[in-house]
Amino acid sequence: MAGVFDQAIVSQIQQASDIVDVIAEHVSLKKRGREMVGLCPFHDDHRPSLNVNTARQIFKCFACGAGGDVFKFVQMRENLTFPQAIERLAERAGIKLERRKPAGHEPRVASDEIDPNKLAKVNAWAAKHFQENLCDENKGKTARDYIAARQISPESTKKWQLGWAVDSPNDLARAAKAKNIPTKLLEQAGLVADPAQDKFVNRLMFPISDVTGRIIGFGGRILDQIGAKYINSPTTALFDKSNCLYGLEQARHRIASSETAVVVEGYTDCIMAHQFDCTNVVATLGTSFTTGHARILRRYAKKVVLVFDSDAAGIEAANRALEVCLSQRIDIKLASVPEGKDPCDFLLAAGKERFEKLLEQAVDVFQFKWNRLIASFDSDDTFAGRKQALEEFLQTIATSLWAGKLSAVDRGLIANHLSRIIGLDSKDINAELAKRLARAAKAASYNTEGRKVQSIDWGQGLSATAQRELLEVLLNEPKLFETLKQKITPEVFDIPILKQAAAILFETLNIDINASLKDILARTESVQVSNCLMELAMAGEEKGNFQSRLTGALDTLSRYQARKKTSQMKATTEDQTQFLRSVYENTEKQNPHNVGMV
Ligand SMILES: [Zn+2]
Repeated sequence: MAGVFDQAIVSQIQQASDIVDVIAEHVSLKKRGREMVGLCPFHDDHRPSLNVNTARQIFKCFACGAGGDVFKFVQMRENLTFPQAIERLAERAGIKLERRKPAGHEPRVASDEIDPNKLAKVNAWAAKHFQENLCDENKGKTARDYIAARQISPESTKKWQLGWAVDSPNDLARAAKAKNIPTKLLEQAGLVADPAQDKFVNRLMFPISDVTGRIIGFGGRILDQIGAKYINSPTTALFDKSNCLYGLEQARHRIASSETAVVVEGYTDCIMAHQFDCTNVVATLGTSFTTGHARILRRYAKKVVLVFDSDAAGIEAANRALEVCLSQRIDIKLASVPEGKDPCDFLLAAGKERFEKLLEQAVDVFQFKWNRLIASFDSDDTFAGRKQALEEFLQTIATSLWAGKLSAVDRGLIANHLSRIIGLDSKDINAELAKRLARAAKAASYNTEGRKVQSIDWGQGLSATAQRELLEVLLNEPKLFETLKQKITPEVFDIPILKQAAAILFETLNIDINASLKDILARTESVQVSNCLMELAMAGEEKGNFQSRLTGALDTLSRYQARKKTSQMKATTEDQTQFLRSVYENTEKQNPHNVGMV
């Protein structure tokens, strides 16, 4: 199968996309020896397991096995197909890319396949349309007045690409039609609802970007009192509000350098903080702080400060956030804005210094709960009221203990302390804690990241080992391919994953005997085969001894081939292995997606 793109251009894009830069857009990387390391985004990583090799332009996670070149990282991270990842990085590098169109054939792309790149493009177009509406002298007046009243500066308006969805049911849909943008694409991006009805009408628009600056969705605020105050884009192939934070692109560098992320609730709170040069601030999109948010922030920050309005809703939201952060093992502090103001108003009224002071004085989660317990014991002398406060508190201690934030000594002290305050035996308190500790551990085991890298089936037996060895050697000493190619073809490989890896490797080395690992990976479409090639290359590098291992592997394989031939002559079609093999080969022919880009 020929690639969708010209291989020379694919190599050019790979060269223009430094793997460290690209991965650093998603993960905070630190230098360790000659490599860069960070928390792996493909499993629930608590120590930096992701290694990025600058010289070889490859990455590898030593915990979950994910590995590959820059294309594979983008493929896995952004859930793209191989061609989509190529397009994504081409765009990032500013390289113009055209699909190769085989004469007489339509490119084989399923029409119902949703392309996240296209959704990002249509979002960018819509954001521009909303911005034009805002600037329009007549159409945008109400929105401009609101922006001025909230004291959002013209610079901020521009920086955050604020826009205006006018009060008409299909303004965007009509504009798209005039530009020949398919309605289907608008639907997939969540911009219109069926039938061609704009999702956002009469709303101030806040485009939401991912860490790489693509617009993935929108938030819209109503300016009169009709309808929900805020709505967001629905969940799409690009957007999931419980897994993204407003302002992360703008804030992540400052978050990484200060190791602290400040989380507010509203779009305008976030914008105002940045306007006041507090640039490590992000906002949740009208949802409470989720495990997804904590997991994202953990890649950049050691400490999270949650800022809430001081009303009861804020306190409740803070309560939920505690559990999330403790189970994600990240330090969390809470700051509440006095006088019932939201952070935006507070900044405007009190200024940057008082806001920063507020952040400095943020209370540790644990202390916060403790204060709350004491307060509720003081104010509520009903049994039910005290019981609820106590239950909540025990839950926090259990989660803290599980997350390793409290020692056994702390636990004993707390139990004694509690027993004095509430007059319950410390033994009973300890028993209650043990119960909750078991529950916390169980809950956390459900929280680990869903997307695990599939394990590789290497096959069994001497022949499978020899096939592996051969590839291990070739990946590290490609020059040996010269002597080898007279003796062996990819057909010798009968372990499915190794057969695919061999096909790509042989094709690449036939073109360029000096091909490096990243050149080979640039021709590898499947994430699984890429993981396999990485494993083989690393294993081979460790073992060394290439020439003698090659001789040994070839010897084993030729004996295996000879034996297979004789047994084939003896048993005809009844040979089950042979039968299975031919079935496998046929399925593979019918399903070319299984094979690498060869
Ligand atoms: Zn991993």
